[in-house]
Amino acid sequence: MSNQVCFSNLAAERSWTLEAYKAAGGYQVWEKILKEGITPEQIIDEMKASGLRGRGGAGFPTGLKWSFMPRNKPGQKYILCNSDEGEPGTFKDRDILRYNPHAVIEGMCIAGYVIGATRGYNYIRGEFWEPYQRFEGALEEARAAGYLGEKLLGSDWEMEIHSHLGAGAYICGEETALIESIEGKKGQPRFKPPFPANFGLYGKPTTINNTESLASVPYILRNGGKWFADLGTANAGGEKLFCVSGHVEKPGNYEIPMGTPFSELLEMCGGIWKGRKLKAVIPGGSSTPVLPAEIIMNCTMDYDSLAKAGSMLGAGSVIVMDETTDMVKALARIAHFYYEESCGQCTPCREGTGWMARAIHRIYHGEGRQEDLDMLTDVANKIQGHTICALGDAAAMPVASFIQHYRDEFQYYIDHGKSMVTG
Ligand code: SF4
Repeated sequence: MSNQVCFSNLAAERSWTLEAYKAAGGYQVWEKILKEGITPEQIIDEMKASGLRGRGGAGFPTGLKWSFMPRNKPGQKYILCNSDEGEPGTFKDRDILRYNPHAVIEGMCIAGYVIGATRGYNYIRGEFWEPYQRFEGALEEARAAGYLGEKLLGSDWEMEIHSHLGAGAYICGEETALIESIEGKKGQPRFKPPFPANFGLYGKPTTINNTESLASVPYILRNGGKWFADLGTANAGGEKLFCVSGHVEKPGNYEIPMGTPFSELLEMCGGIWKGRKLKAVIPGGSSTPVLPAEIIMNCTMDYDSLAKAGSMLGAGSVIVMDETTDMVKALARIAHFYYEESCGQCTPCREGTGWMARAIHRIYHGEGRQEDLDMLTDVANKIQGHTICALGDAAAMPVASFIQHYRDEFQYYIDHGKSMVTG
């Protein structure tokens, strides 16, 4: 395991403290910016050279995203950190907040400077009490050390960051729903355009980055964009945290170079538990299409390889399933989740997630009808691409892929009223 970026200081005692972060070179970049006045353009160029792509799931290049901000427009702008992390299978951002919160703060300070924002909010999932407390403690330390506040380190720049705890809605991880939630409104996605870069928090230009993306920024700027880019592949710079869960011997977070073969990642995790065989993997969180063993074993963990195989890297949330997994039951759980979490604003998502969840539930309980299979595919196709936000696609993609690869298991349930795997 490399651990050269977000988890690079994991071995330090009380790694979350300012003392441990500074001992590992923390805040050097922020100090340099404040004292030597590196320009935002220089930082954007370095970020572009790094090849960092958003670690929240969308994979949009971070440097390019920052360059869209109208930094010289008068008035307040905002930098938001998305620590809502609700995608089933994802558990990396909470550990960054737990063990390396100052990297997130330094990343937010730098991003704020680049886009012209002197205020930042970290939107933290409401259940993350310990990560929230660690982050709050780090904010206090950063304020006391003069890294946050006014006239920072003798410069004319100011910066303040606040935490905002969510209330358990998955949809608030969608960036415009997150903005609505901070504003005190119901957390529902906005129609786009306008995009947050022009009309974001309180109607002001806003950039939203994922926790892992922001925590990577100080390391990139300290070591150079090329250093980071060279850690990964041509189209995906750096190392990335992969959250491995399910039927492996050693589940957990693994920070490894982009482009690492899946087979190597599986080996790091101790292989499939109980000496069983691999059946399938959801490579990027529950919303990404499932891949059978024979396909994923030939993939590398990066955007291009997984896309070519018919899935997505997503947030790097790898759910491993062994040969005893009942794929109908697995999909029933996933479908119910998206049905529960749909915000109900648009018809294809509100109605479609319910249709899909009910049909899969029916099949799982031995009451499936032959027409359910084609109906499921049809509903999934009608949701995809026809909704305000990506939750519609997130709900549809697993259904389409489970049926595509494991149709025989669904058919067996319909014919025999029980699982062909578990009997
Ligand atoms: Fe809400 Fe679903 Fe529409 Fe997104 S796609 S806005 S979650 S109803």
